[in-house]
Amino acid sequence: MNHNIQVIAYLLAGVLFIRSLGGLSKQTTARSGNVFGMAGMTLAGVVTAIVWAQHGVGSVAAGILGAAIVGGSVIGWWLAKRVEMTGMPELVAILHSFVGLAAVLVGISSYLTPVVAHEGTPPDQIAIEHTVHLVEIWVGVAVGAITFTGSVIAFGKLRGSISGKPLLLPGRHAMNAVMALAIVGLAVPFMTAAQPLALPHVIAMTVIAGILGAHLVMAIGGADMPVVVSLLNSYSGWAAAAAGFMLDNDLLIVTGALVGSSGTILSIIMCRAMNRSILNVVFGGFGTGDSKPSTATTESHGDVHEMKGDEVAQRLLASRQVVIVPGYGMAVARAQNAVHELTTQLREMGIKVRFAIHPVAGRLPGHMNVLLAEAGVPYDIVMEMEEINHDFPQTDVVLVVGSNDIVNPGALDDPSSPIYGMPVLEVWKSKLVVVLKRGMAAGYAGVENPLFFHDNCRMLFGDAKKSMDALVQAVRAAGPAKAAE
Ligand code: NDP
Repeated sequence: MNHNIQVIAYLLAGVLFIRSLGGLSKQTTARSGNVFGMAGMTLAGVVTAIVWAQHGVGSVAAGILGAAIVGGSVIGWWLAKRVEMTGMPELVAILHSFVGLAAVLVGISSYLTPVVAHEGTPPDQIAIEHTVHLVEIWVGVAVGAITFTGSVIAFGKLRGSISGKPLLLPGRHAMNAVMALAIVGLAVPFMTAAQPLALPHVIAMTVIAGILGAHLVMAIGGADMPVVVSLLNSYSGWAAAAAGFMLDNDLLIVTGALVGSSGTILSIIMCRAMNRSILNVVFGGFGTGDSKPSTATTESHGDVHEMKGDEVAQRLLASRQVVIVPGYGMAVARAQNAVHELTTQLREMGIKVRFAIHPVAGRLPGHMNVLLAEAGVPYDIVMEMEEINHDFPQTDVVLVVGSNDIVNPGALDDPSSPIYGMPVLEVWKSKLVVVLKRGMAAGYAGVENPLFFHDNCRMLFGDAKKSMDALVQAVRAAGPAKAAE
């Protein structure tokens, strides 16, 4: 393939990726955004395969590459088909770790590959190019190792195999600083040694960066995990961009930079939503366990009041305005279709129903929007937190479906709470709040929720899907009487 055609094809793939990101920014265009992304990836894959073939890759190497691509695609397809929506955050975290590991391996193999200078290149230019190449390797391997171990820890925390509590070792910031300095310090002998004699330095730095990545994420408490997930997304992009520099592949640089910068923007948005400083989250452990234990976990707030499904249905039917707050429990129970059905019934009876989406609801940015879109809930009744928070005083009934942390008033009035300062949906300002959950378990941040003890709050205990199905039945049964009014 002519080099110019290759450049144009890569450029086109880059444009398709940008269109993809643009599409993914809105629910209405998300599907087309995915299609653009798939088209860009297919184009990039085909062009790269043609370029390989032209470079006369040996049959053994071609066989290994082909087997890796086919094997990887089959595993990816199988995993994506199999994964539950509740397992998506873990899948995303582990996929980020693969990008980090790939950057480490590309960096090490790049270092072991002898550099061949183009004929006629002046020696001083060769020296400069060599230095730049070594810097690319060092940065790529460091970012890759931090991304790899950080993502593996995030995977464990999201899966629940590692405790969500922050690991706050004494002197942890000093330890992080020493590790960061060691990464920079080891670069000096690496840059001055003849290639590839400094391989032990590369390996030592990889180990230190790996420990640093794991330690940074271990120190982050459950409440800050949403930012960690988006930060690791951004790191994986920078790691891919670094691999692009090492491999001299413009498309990988562009794609990595797109992922890196969009991940950074997402992290900033998540930080704003949680009222956290991004630097505090990056350096880990701030605003989590340094505070006193939350009074929310230690004080009793009185009794909770239960309400049975039939009565909840009656209160819904007597309402003019209803707001539904979906959370992680809705995803676990797979209650979104039943929620949609109830919404449709109530709307047909002239009741105004809207959804209130907290930016960190569920376990993935946009988790609830995806579930509601999948169930067919119209986009125009799905509101962001700031659009709907001031409407709660005029709301007759709020249904909290498997949410907990995002409706915790302690975030506003308990300075000792790990989620203190995070804006929440102020559902307690409505006339009646009904919470659908199985028991009194805490949410992801591990703190008790004083909302459940408010006078205007009622608990509808049980699996959210079963409770929702019962509400749908009860509302359907009462429908003709309501229509006759
Ligand atoms: P929470 O994790 O705070 O609460 C979920 C609640 O759902 C639990 O209290 C649980 O109570 C209930 N539940 C679980 N299964 C069911 C079921 N089958 N039926 C009914 N209820 C069920 O969820 P929120 O969405 O309110 O908050 C999200 C939390 O996750 C925040 O702390 C956020 O920081 C964190 N997080 C968010 C990420 C993101 O990107 N969005 C990423 C990582 C973490 P019970 O067991 O009693 O039923």
